[in-house]
Amino acid sequence: MGQARVNCLRRRVLQGLVLCGVVAWRCEAAFAQPAGRRAALARRLLTIVIDPGHGGVDPGAIGPDGVYEKDIVLATAREFARALAARRSYHVGLTRSTDEFLPLRKRVARAHAWKADLFLSIHADALPDKEMRGLSVFTQSAQASDREAAALAMSENRADLVGGINLSRQPRDVGNILLDLTRRQTSNSSISLARDVVDQLGRDIVMLERPQRSADFAVLTAPDIPSALVELGCLSNPKEERLLQQRGYQQKIARGLVRAIESYFAAHGAV
Ligand SMILES: [Zn+2]
Repeated sequence: MGQARVNCLRRRVLQGLVLCGVVAWRCEAAFAQPAGRRAALARRLLTIVIDPGHGGVDPGAIGPDGVYEKDIVLATAREFARALAARRSYHVGLTRSTDEFLPLRKRVARAHAWKADLFLSIHADALPDKEMRGLSVFTQSAQASDREAAALAMSENRADLVGGINLSRQPRDVGNILLDLTRRQTSNSSISLARDVVDQLGRDIVMLERPQRSADFAVLTAPDIPSALVELGCLSNPKEERLLQQRGYQQKIARGLVRAIESYFAAHGAV
């Protein structure tokens, strides 16, 4: 074998080694990147259903200056939906996007039809004490956490009566252990969702005393969808009535709700 031939062979071996190195490096890089991308693709978008309370013939609570609950909850729900959609990780549905009357059961039915991962009903309160103000969050419980919560649930549940529809609840006597387990799991998830809302919004929004409560709300009865009802504030308080109409304040609430949802999914993932 001549020297030239040996050199040629050595060059080929070296080229081969370099090529192997490049291929290995490219494989490694290619494996690392698409793995992340594959995970991102495999992760399905989460569906959040936002439910602006009342609407149409049902104005909900009315402030001293004549502000309707149905209007400020729709405006805030839209801000919330926009802020959430901007994160590009969620499908966002509004049970109503116009000033229409929608029975409570239809709101829950829409959340089911859209296979919601979370359901958030948006309301604003009116309390007998005009001094009281602040945001609060409710979860479903047959046993109300206190008398005010029970009274509030009763007034929110009246929405269907206002619209001329007899409020009938989903059957509760389904003797199914699995359903019971699902309910319990959903209830625990709903409570942590409410806690996240209080933690995140409590940073820059005035909260009602004991802001996390529970009561028997007809709109929170889906057994398999973690749900909470947010009372944005007290329309009965003139200062809060003014604030709740301001777009800047609505956007501040919307940002807090987005943070709450991100914090909830970071801890729990989809149910
Ligand atoms: Zn309401």
